[in-house]
Amino acid sequence: MSLKNTHEIDIVRVSSSKIDSVDFDNLTFGTTFTDHMFVCDFREGKWQKAEIKPYAPFLLDPSAKVFHYGQAIFEGMKAYKDESDDVWLFRPDQNFERFNKSAKRMAMPEVDEEIFMSGLHQLIDLEREWVKKGLGNTLYIRPFMIAIGSGVIAAPSTQYRFMIILSPAKSYYSGEVKVIIAEHYSRAANGGIGAAKAAGNYSAQFYPTKLANERGFQQIIWTDDATHTKLEEAGTMNVFFRINDTLYTAPTSERILDGVTRKSLIDLAKRDGIDVAVRPVLVEEIIEAAKDGSLKEIFGAGTAAVVNPIVGFSYQDTYYELPKIENSFALLLKEKLTKIQYKLAEDTFGWTVKI
Ligand SMILES: *Cc1c(COP(=O)(O)O)cnc(C)c1O
Repeated sequence: MSLKNTHEIDIVRVSSSKIDSVDFDNLTFGTTFTDHMFVCDFREGKWQKAEIKPYAPFLLDPSAKVFHYGQAIFEGMKAYKDESDDVWLFRPDQNFERFNKSAKRMAMPEVDEEIFMSGLHQLIDLEREWVKKGLGNTLYIRPFMIAIGSGVIAAPSTQYRFMIILSPAKSYYSGEVKVIIAEHYSRAANGGIGAAKAAGNYSAQFYPTKLANERGFQQIIWTDDATHTKLEEAGTMNVFFRINDTLYTAPTSERILDGVTRKSLIDLAKRDGIDVAVRPVLVEEIIEAAKDGSLKEIFGAGTAAVVNPIVGFSYQDTYYELPKIENSFALLLKEKLTKIQYKLAEDTFGWTVKI
C-alpha cells in the first residue's frame, strides 16, 4: 500500500529544533509534541491551502462553535521505526475512512484523501528524528478537526480547522486494570454518536469513570444503553473475552467504535488458528464463565496500549478475579501485532505503509 502524497503543502520550518531538550526515556504519554504541526482550514465551502508550520498555540474567537456545540473529532494512530531507519504507518486508510465517517456524523466537511495522506506523510517525514528505534518507541499521531466559525447559534459551523500533531511515546503500561461493568451509565446509545470518534464521547465518560476510580477501579466496561445486558467496550477501547480457548467480541454497531486494533487482532487470531466469535457478549454469560472457571481473560484493544489486560471486574457489588494464566492470548496477539508494526515479522496482510 502507498500513500497518496501529491498534495502541495506550504512548509515553514522552525529555526531550531527542541528535540535535544526531550528526554526520550521518560516520556509521559501525550504531553510532548514535535517541532511542527499540520494545518488546513475549510472556508467558503472548500479546503484551503495546507501548511506545515512550527507547533504553537493559536487564537480562536470566544464564540467559536467548537467551544459551545462540541463539533470536534479526532483520530489516534502511530508511526514506527524499523531497524533500517525506515518509518512506517499501520493501516492509515482505516483511520482516514473513520475520520470522514466521524465528520459526516457531526455535520462537518469530509477531508480529501490527498490532504489527509499528504499531511501525514510530509509532517512525519519532516519529523523522522522524533521516531525512535526499538520496540515500544512510537510517534503517536493525532489528526483532529474542530469547528472554528464564530457565533453562539446552534447550527453547524461553516468554517473548520483540520490539524495533525505528533507526540513521541513509549509503550503504554497502565498497571493492573480492574473494571466495573456499567449498570446505569452509558457511553453511547442507538442513534447517537458512539461510532464516531467525537470529543463529546470522551467528556461524557469522565464522570462515571471518576466514580469508578473512587471505588478503586480504573475503567468501566460499557454495556448497551437500553438493557445493560451486553458488554460493548472497555473504557475507550474495544473489548475481548476469552472463554476456554475462544475469543469473543461484540460486532461493531452504532454504539461501538470500529477499532483498527480490534479488527486487526481478529484477523491475526483467525490466521493463526485461534477461534474468534464476533457476536453480542452477554453480562450473564461472562458471570457464569467467571463462576465456573472457564473465563480466562478479558482485555481492551486500542492503538495507545495495543492490548490492555484486565485483572478483575465488579458487577452488582461482587468482585470477580480473573485467573493468572500462562500463554495469554492478549499477550500473544499483542506480540504478533507489534512485530508486524515494527517490521520484525512478515506483514501478510499488507497493513504497513512506508513514509
Ligand atoms: C479509538 C477508540 C477505540 C480503538 O480504536 P483503534 O482504532 O484500535 O485505536 C475503541 N473504542 C473507542 C471508544 C475509541 O474511541
